[in-house]
Amino acid sequence: PFDVLVVGGGPAGVAAAIYAARKGIRTALVAERFGGQVQDTMGIENFISVPYTEGPKLVANLEQHVKDYGVEIITHQRVTDIRANNDNAGLLVPLASGATLKSRSVIVAPGARWRELNVPGEQDYRNKGVAYCPHCDGPFYKGKRVAVVGGGNSGIEAAIDLAGIVEHVTVLEFAEHLRADEVLQRKAKSLPNIDIITQAQTREVVGDGNKVSGINYIDRASGEQQYLAVAGIFVQIGLVPNTEFLQGSAIELSPFGEVIIDAKGSTAIPGVFAAGDATTVPYKQIVIAMGAGATAALSAFDYLIRS
Ligand code: FAD
Repeated sequence: PFDVLVVGGGPAGVAAAIYAARKGIRTALVAERFGGQVQDTMGIENFISVPYTEGPKLVANLEQHVKDYGVEIITHQRVTDIRANNDNAGLLVPLASGATLKSRSVIVAPGARWRELNVPGEQDYRNKGVAYCPHCDGPFYKGKRVAVVGGGNSGIEAAIDLAGIVEHVTVLEFAEHLRADEVLQRKAKSLPNIDIITQAQTREVVGDGNKVSGINYIDRASGEQQYLAVAGIFVQIGLVPNTEFLQGSAIELSPFGEVIIDAKGSTAIPGVFAAGDATTVPYKQIVIAMGAGATAALSAFDYLIRS
């Protein structure tokens, strides 16, 4: 068996694997798609000490760094469960292929995915005006008009955040009322460059072939189609943790499906730690995921030397 098996090949998983391997223990990393969300990212300007990089380039650096340590890397494999090995100590990690990996400890870092609008144009203009992360992409829209789709806490937080950077923000909410906390709504309504439109059903992302030029929505009150000219559309209708495969396991999940961890990255199963966007960690960012991966690996090492 491995000493540490990392599930996930995004920033959290790679950081965990490097930290574990540096302890001289037998480390493996299994991932469906190495690089995770970073693979889908264009410009990255908040990876501290690197003023600008691009997703695929950062992924290549992650791969080089983890390979330098002789970590066993297993890609294109999907983990389907994590459970205690009843016969002897350790953990079993079955794969969709039918094989089962064994390890003394496991670090779960399967990440998350943004919930998508599923309207025409969204995929065509992804990274060309359609964005999901205001902390990441907000500054690219400096001085421009943008829309935020979603009037929950994340949508209204995004609108307030963006209002300080861009020229104007229009929030489009499907329901009759915003779902965000009252204090956030009050703040958003007090800002002169935020408009809020409720009962708006997003129909289509419109562009010129290269980049977004606007968004079509149905005004559900009148039934009429409306067009809003914007350079950017921030989709804020939820971040879904990739933890469906843990639903039957003993690992505890929050009501949102996030793996519940403590400050050391421990989960409800002894020897199983977790890190990154799939967990209850506040704020989902590359530097945060990497730090959490390092924490989980040091905790796994701590666990191993005591057992
Ligand atoms: P992920 O990157 O999601 O990686 C998860 C890994 O787990 C993948 O390898 C996946 O294949 C694997 N996996 C999942 N389920 C299984 C399974 N069952 N079995 C095996 N493997 C599995 N953050 C920033 O800091 N700056 C930015 O500029 C930025 N821009 C972004 C732009 C976009 C378009 C997106 C989508 C995100 C952006 N983010 C940015 C957020 C950042 O990418 C995430 O916070 C970060 O990637 C989280 O790392 P992670 O390792 O937790 O998860």
